[in-house]
Amino acid sequence: MIDYVPTICPYCGCGCGMYLVVKEGRIVGVEPWKEHPVSEGKLCPKGRNSYEFLYSHDRLKKPLVRRGDRLVEGSWEDALRRVVNEFRDTSPEDFGILASGKTTNEESYVLQKFGRVVIGTNNIDYCARFCHATTVGGLGPTLGSGVMASSVLDYELPDCFLIAGVNVQETFPAIARRIKRAKERGAKIIVIDPRKTLTAKLYADIHLQLFPGTDVALINGMMRVILDEGLENGEFIEKRTKGFEELKEYLLSIDLKEVEETTNVSLDEIKKAAETYAGAKTGSILYDEGITEYTTGAEKITALADLALLTGHVGKPGAGVNPMRGQINGEGTGDMGCFPVFYPGFKPLTEQTFEFFRDVWNVESIPEKAGKTVMEMLEDCKKLYIVGFNPMVSAPHVTRVKELLEQKEFVVVQDIFLTETAALADVVLPSAAWGEKMGTHTWTDRRVQLVRKAVDPPGEAIPDWQIICRLAEMMGYGDHFEYKSPRDIFEEIRRCVPQYRGISYERLEKSSGGIQWPCPSEDHPGTSTMFVERFNTPDGFGHFGVVQYRPPAELPDNEYPFMLTTGRVIFHYHTGTMTRRTERLSNEVPTGFAVIHPENAEELGIMDGDEILLVSRRGRVKTFARVSNEVARGLIFMPFHFAERAANILTNPVLAPTKMPEFKLCAVRIEREGS
Ligand code: SF4
Repeated sequence: MIDYVPTICPYCGCGCGMYLVVKEGRIVGVEPWKEHPVSEGKLCPKGRNSYEFLYSHDRLKKPLVRRGDRLVEGSWEDALRRVVNEFRDTSPEDFGILASGKTTNEESYVLQKFGRVVIGTNNIDYCARFCHATTVGGLGPTLGSGVMASSVLDYELPDCFLIAGVNVQETFPAIARRIKRAKERGAKIIVIDPRKTLTAKLYADIHLQLFPGTDVALINGMMRVILDEGLENGEFIEKRTKGFEELKEYLLSIDLKEVEETTNVSLDEIKKAAETYAGAKTGSILYDEGITEYTTGAEKITALADLALLTGHVGKPGAGVNPMRGQINGEGTGDMGCFPVFYPGFKPLTEQTFEFFRDVWNVESIPEKAGKTVMEMLEDCKKLYIVGFNPMVSAPHVTRVKELLEQKEFVVVQDIFLTETAALADVVLPSAAWGEKMGTHTWTDRRVQLVRKAVDPPGEAIPDWQIICRLAEMMGYGDHFEYKSPRDIFEEIRRCVPQYRGISYERLEKSSGGIQWPCPSEDHPGTSTMFVERFNTPDGFGHFGVVQYRPPAELPDNEYPFMLTTGRVIFHYHTGTMTRRTERLSNEVPTGFAVIHPENAEELGIMDGDEILLVSRRGRVKTFARVSNEVARGLIFMPFHFAERAANILTNPVLAPTKMPEFKLCAVRIEREGS
């Protein structure tokens, strides 16, 4: 008998629907879900090949416990006993939890509750620290909330897109499809990117190929042109914003000639882009890591918010300033409170919050002091509980991360494979993967959807929430973690997270396309467009911020004359744990490479496919040259998915004020093998 189990793709932030074809307890194929509004019956290569990794020969099937240099299989009882002994014998200060943007909402919720109730620490953070921490710093003060303003479904409505630092075609294919349709109907596309990405090649009417990291100067320049030409939206500014005069005063003081020099974009192009965006009826700004992953990320996002407020391109379907979250639960794990300074529902560390959670969780005390962020925990905590996070590939300056992990008193990793991080752990706990468990995720446009169980997990692997609840029980907190199912956990989430109050499993089971939060009551349809009448700031107004250009922390010099930037390719997902175990995807791009401009290649005598060494102040990586003019002279691009040619051996761990590392730019030199 064949079953068709409806679920949502495990990759990227779009949230495409699909059916898993199940025969005799095994997934044997994927069928498109034709009525699903996000995917419209279509899937990209990752979606079409989304289940093969589940059957990889090296899935973790039993707990592993370190004996000397080796990790050996053990019983659940022994492994958990060892973990509990270590967890009991620790102070909250010294304990850190690294959570995941891949676990379900229910699992992320239970994990942060474990940290706060059982251990008594706010030292919990997740991979969004590495991609959108600066979004909170930029959109929080200006618009009051760091969430995507629009719905994925509405990205064919705008007549102008400003796509900044995101290669939508390769990283968000279901959104790219809508942008393509908008373009076919006449929408203008402006791409801001130092690389000639596939998105720039396919869609850009105007490609502003700026020097990496100079976005603030460029956007300030665009706003100056808008003011000079009287293209600002006076009525919107008057009615819905504050702080315009201060911004105007600053913009009138900047020199557009200097902007041209700083950005390497001609004034003509800057003018064209400014006039096109300001002249649109509905303008949409989409951005991702090319904007955020800088020490100046928050300033760049503030400038983008200023641009949208100046022109009134906010509060309409498809419009606004839209951070694109690349993980399946990049939004949801944050909503669930896996943050050192927020409880579930982005509740700040205030007495009101503490009182609420003490009451709901029925405990006398919960931690009140701000916790540590990812890099701080890696540096400072003595014991780590790492769930579905692989900093040995995803963190900057990986060599240092390895040293830090090796120095820890105790590390537990909970994952589906023996990842590069798990290999360094003291105990490894095998968890069930997507397709093997039920739950909800929240995709990039705040869209909450159900993922369903189609098959059993292999061996003795079990869902993360069950592992966490078992640990809580063994530590004497069983009463607080008495959940029978993810549905039970979700009911508690609805009580704690106001944005989810009206969403229920019953409603999700009946929907195709889920429900977008905020959804305050069961008769509320969900919210596709944010900020229609007011912003989420305390006074409801949009607040302009004045930001000045600052250069990235590490620029090229004589010793390291090239700029290195990193990114993704369509066939792979983050640290490659799943996609590199999928033959069709792996065959397309089997390993890492470095893209180098033809003139630089010629000067250095490098041919396409040659093996080269890239060297930064942090380390050296052997990789293959790919010669292409997709990068400008002096710039090198590496995808970050490949542990054996890890771009993050080279990247700079310097932190932004929001504790985001500067992944997207560092200085390197190129050496030939043997030189
Ligand atoms: Fe999956 Fe994203 Fe591709 Fe849709 S666009 S199939 S969600 S990877």
